[in-house]
Order: sequence, then structure tokens, then C-alpha cells
Amino acid sequence: LKSIAIMTSGGDSPGMNAAARAVVRTALYEGVKVFGIYDGYKGMLEDRIVELNSQSVSDIIQRGGTFLGTARCPEFKQEETRKEALKILQRHGIEGLVIIGGDGSLTGGSLLSDLGMPIVGLPGTIDNDVWGSDYTIGADTALNTILDAINKLRDTASAHRRIIVLEVMGRKCGWLAMMAGIAGGAEYVLVPEVKYDLNKICDELKTSYDNGRRYSIVVVAEGVGSAVDIGKEIGEKTGIDTRVTVLGHVQRGGSPTAEDRVKASMLGEKAALALLNGQSNIVFGINEGKVVAIDLHDSVNNNKTLDPELVRLARVLSK
Ligand code: ADP
Repeated sequence: LKSIAIMTSGGDSPGMNAAARAVVRTALYEGVKVFGIYDGYKGMLEDRIVELNSQSVSDIIQRGGTFLGTARCPEFKQEETRKEALKILQRHGIEGLVIIGGDGSLTGGSLLSDLGMPIVGLPGTIDNDVWGSDYTIGADTALNTILDAINKLRDTASAHRRIIVLEVMGRKCGWLAMMAGIAGGAEYVLVPEVKYDLNKICDELKTSYDNGRRYSIVVVAEGVGSAVDIGKEIGEKTGIDTRVTVLGHVQRGGSPTAEDRVKASMLGEKAALALLNGQSNIVFGINEGKVVAIDLHDSVNNNKTLDPELVRLARVLSK
């Protein structure tokens, strides 16, 4: 194998740069050419493909975002479009491709692999919703960003005797919300995976404020619905001053944590080596601290569930 390519796709996440850097440096170390594809599948179709060298990935390990850019490309869902993409890759002599992205990007990758392009996926998303891996690149950084917000919200909430409702990202997955709730000491965490009764929550909140509680934090995963609506309902039902913060895209940014940099680097190296050793159609993830290979099709065809232990712990500690 003489050339591989690297691409980031879908929602960006902090640590994608560290992963891409590891892919590039590993390939070069092994004497293989490596191309960067700009702006995901969109750039692939527009043939924005450039050979990279070691310096191409200098000074990026500490940065959030992705130096390759990322994009959404709905046309990639059509087989004709993917056949076009395959031709473009083959014209450059690309014999294997590392895709760093979320579930959608990896689904696109699995379909491209069905056409014969060797693909290795890396889970790059703050949502931590990729099946088969406990870890995704960027989730730890996003979690720490949320935690920082909760710490700040606590200060102002306690000063005013308020209920703070905080909406966090995660798409259909409640992992970020649940982890942030546990780490931030939230009173309630609403996630799409677990049923909740807002009337009951409001009654409990009212009782605890009547008993002298100064403030409460309610974390809402975006998959549950709008925190603005939920906050309005809580305010009306409890009669307690309630404020809503929708954290939004700050969760995507920022310098990656040490954990995200190191794990992304480990995954990037494994991805490049796998392609060079003739392995493909896998996603590398991390379970129990070790890099593991997951079948690409299995990963995109299964939905990750939220660890019930986390749900239980959050419940016990908020009482
Ligand atoms: P993420 O990778 O973060 O989950 P998206 O779901 O937006 O982000 O997917 C990113 C891109 O991956 C899409 O814009 C599209 O180009 C490609 N993609 C997503 N789903 C599919 C699919 N079912 N078939 C082919 N390509 C897909």
C-alpha cells in the first residue's frame, strides 16, 4: 500500500486534530504517502485533496476544531454520488481512507467501503454515541466545558435562589448530560433514554425550596426537547424563579483535554497502521483504557445505550 487519505466529517470535535496528526505522522513514519481531504465528503466530491507532510500537522494538537475542515454533504446518501467519490479517490492512487466523524460520517464510510474502498473509522464526536466504544474523541473536552458552565451557573443561581435549567448537546444520546449532571452535582438530569415525570419533579423542587433549598440545577439533554420549553413549564408549575441556559456550540470548541489528545493520538496511530497492514472496515474505539477494533457495519447499525449504572448513580447522589 502506497497512499492513504485522512478526512474529518460531520460535527467537529476537539481532538480531531490530534487524531489526524497521528494518522499523518504514522503513515509518514512508515514511508507511506498521506493525503488530506478537505471539508469531508463535500470536499472529496469537489476533489479538494492535498498531499500532506509532517509540517502540515504542526501546531495543531492543542487546537479544537479540525484543520481539514468538515462539512455536511447530504448527496453522499446517493449511491451514484459515492461511485463518483470512489473514482476521485482512485485517481489520486488512494488505497485506504481514515474517516474521523460521528455516526453519520461512519455510515457514509461503511457505504463507501461496500464499493471497495478500504475504510478505517475513528469516532469523532462530542456526543459519545458511537456503538462499540466507551469513548469518542472530543467528549471529554465537551464534558469539561459543560462542567465549567455548571460551576459558574451555581454561583449566580445560589445568589438569587433560582432554578437553573441547562441544555447540553448529545443528539439522541444522554451521555454528556448524565456525566455533566454527576460531575456537576445536578439535582435532575433529563435524558432521552430515561422516562421522567415533570409534574413530580416540580412538586419535589417546590418542597425542597419550601424547606430552604437555595438553588437547583436541572440538566436537560438536547434529545429530550427544548430546555426553554421545559424551563418555562418548571417556572410556571413551581412558582420559583427559573432561568434557562442553552449552552450551544461552545461545547464543540476549545483546546482538547489531555485525555482527548492522548486517546485521539492512540487511535490515529492504530488507524493508519491498520490500513498499512491490510485491515479495514473497522472502527477503532477505546474500552477499559485499551484500543479496540469494532466492525464498521456493526458500529453504524447498532445504537449505543446509556450505562444504567450512571443513571442509578445520578439518582442516588441527587437525593
Ligand atoms: P456526524 O458524522 O457527526 O454524525 P452527520 O450525521 O451530519 O454527522 O453526517 C455527516 C455526513 O456523513 C453527512 O453530511 C453525509 O455526507 C454523510 N452521511 C450521513 N449519513 C449517511 C448515510 N446514511 N449514507 C451516506 N452518507 C451519510
